[in-house]
Amino acid sequence: MKHMNVQDKTDLLLYEIDSRRDDLISLTQDLIRIPTLNPPGENYREICEFLDQRLQKHGFSTELLRAHGTPGDSEKFPRWNVVARREGANRGDCVHFNSHIDVVAVGSGWTQDPFGGELLGDKIYGRGACDMKGGLAASIIAAEAFIDTNPDFHGAIEISGTGDEESGGYGGVAYLAEKGFFNPERVQHVIIPEPLNKDRICLGHRGGWWAEIETFGEIAHGCMPFLGDCAVRHMGAVIDKFETELFPAMAARRTDMPVVPDGARSSTMNINSIHGGQPEQDEDFTGLPAHCVPDSCRIVIDRRFLVEETLDEVRDEVENLLDELKAERPKFNYDLRELNSVLPSMTDRDAPVAVSVAKQIEKVMGKQAEFIASPGTYDQKHIDRIGKLKNCVAYGPGILELAHKPDEYVSVDDMMDSVRVMASCLADLLLPKE
Ligand SMILES: [Zn+2]
Repeated sequence: MKHMNVQDKTDLLLYEIDSRRDDLISLTQDLIRIPTLNPPGENYREICEFLDQRLQKHGFSTELLRAHGTPGDSEKFPRWNVVARREGANRGDCVHFNSHIDVVAVGSGWTQDPFGGELLGDKIYGRGACDMKGGLAASIIAAEAFIDTNPDFHGAIEISGTGDEESGGYGGVAYLAEKGFFNPERVQHVIIPEPLNKDRICLGHRGGWWAEIETFGEIAHGCMPFLGDCAVRHMGAVIDKFETELFPAMAARRTDMPVVPDGARSSTMNINSIHGGQPEQDEDFTGLPAHCVPDSCRIVIDRRFLVEETLDEVRDEVENLLDELKAERPKFNYDLRELNSVLPSMTDRDAPVAVSVAKQIEKVMGKQAEFIASPGTYDQKHIDRIGKLKNCVAYGPGILELAHKPDEYVSVDDMMDSVRVMASCLADLLLPKE
């Protein structure tokens, strides 16, 4: 028998993928129909068992891991994850596809059943269709089609389904990274099929710093506010400082990271919430408020920063403004509590996995891949910081703008293109060069 050449093998792989379109559709629907809402973290075990059974059938050895004691983990809502690994015929690199299994709240405004997985024309609807069960399904079909047409491949393929990405990933990828699952000795290439559009490669994300600021005052009768000290007015001064100094300074900073959309190329900050004075009563309370000068006011800030800034600079900038107010305003006093922080992550544009995905996008779709970075963070932070694995990108079929929206969907054609790209990457990275 004549030895098959590379072109024949590529054709066979693409032909094999075409024949699995219905399988891709039903797999995506099955995943959507398991409602894995987070919070609170529902049905993680169910979806992990589903993935476990599916991948075992294709020769993967699998592990189900519960992230005991991580935020949100309880007997009622255990944080389950699944990792599946398929060894090739020879030694070589390991390519890992990591997808989060959790989805965000449904919200209002849907015209489709959010957990029905309805196929209408080219679109499969449901919460998580785009973010990111479509991407998960695409990576599974890509791996299965590749293995079936190239059983003699070198290295290994891993597929993981992890929890809690939407709430920080501590019971998911962070947990696995701490257990050594993203050790560069074990895994060499990571692709996260987050919805970033099928022709774009996401190299990383900005950093984040979350904090609560409280200003203090002194309670007194509201008819004699001069006998007390109004914490809300102090907070007004804080916000005024932010408006006149912090926001203009942040807007002036531009990053070299290819962040989309363009507004996120600058440093940004959101004021998430503000609470001052007496606690609000229940909605059915019909009484009138008492007249008091507020002795406390709190805001929560969400500061996103650039790879060119350090966490210390970001923190100091806010603290310095608050300390200036201490000098300027009589009786001004504050407390700053850090809630969480995430450092920016940026994979090199010529990292092997980024180069390979770009090459396959060009081959499959006939256009140059666009390199981007994400305004918000995703699980790459844990693979980078805890796993110390730098060869990681996000690449997946969904349309970024549909994530978390009502009537979220994923296009079957887009998924098929991504399957072709992912499978061709496996061929590029795991087949011996002729
Ligand atoms: Zn996501």
